[in-house]
Amino acid sequence: MTKILVVEDEAKIARFVELELTHEGYEVDKVDNGRDAVDVALSNDYDLILLDILLPQLNGMEVLRRIRREKDVPVILLTARDAVMDKVAGLDAGADDYITKPFAIEELLARIRVALKRREVSQPVAEPATPAVAPQPAHHILAAKGVQLDVERHEVLVEGEPVELTNREFEVLKALLENLNIVMSRERLAQLACGYDFVGETNIIDVYIRHLRSKIDDRYGIKLISTVRGVGYVIREG
Ligand code: CA
Repeated sequence: MTKILVVEDEAKIARFVELELTHEGYEVDKVDNGRDAVDVALSNDYDLILLDILLPQLNGMEVLRRIRREKDVPVILLTARDAVMDKVAGLDAGADDYITKPFAIEELLARIRVALKRREVSQPVAEPATPAVAPQPAHHILAAKGVQLDVERHEVLVEGEPVELTNREFEVLKALLENLNIVMSRERLAQLACGYDFVGETNIIDVYIRHLRSKIDDRYGIKLISTVRGVGYVIREG
């Protein structure tokens, strides 16, 4: 049976979600504060965790960080409307998805199914025997305008200097570099950077672009990423 932990301090929401999930055939545990959430999440094996951000004792972001240190369980954040920074920070901290409150239960159920399925797909299948000498992987490097992105090493160099990017910033930059001179919509970037079934608001892409510009364009005085009004973003070269 699929086990879900619901972390929510608003008793009415928690109860409603519990009833709906139980009705769908999930086994549900619920806790109403951050400390219990960490304890319960780490001492049990859940298939998925629904995690409110504003919680007593320990907020949801901190709960997420502590769970992530030890477990790879899918986490869907429950966030307040328009809290874009929460969403960005949440995804960077390792959340799989988020849903904005108030939400329709059908939408929550759909997100849960997607997160569970994605996790199933990413579970490693039987590992092939390790060869005695592992072949050296070829380094796949994407480059433009003095920026080099090493896909395998997960490294970005600007004018030879390493630049620290978060996972999502790296993925957005990679998508743009892989598609030089092609204008990428926010939707397309969100799909490439956050997963094909990304259904959140695509304005988080604007936030990642802003971060990339401050870390690369502003710092090195180059114009890397261009905005195409009403369409999206592009790195032009040649
Ligand atoms: Ca709350």
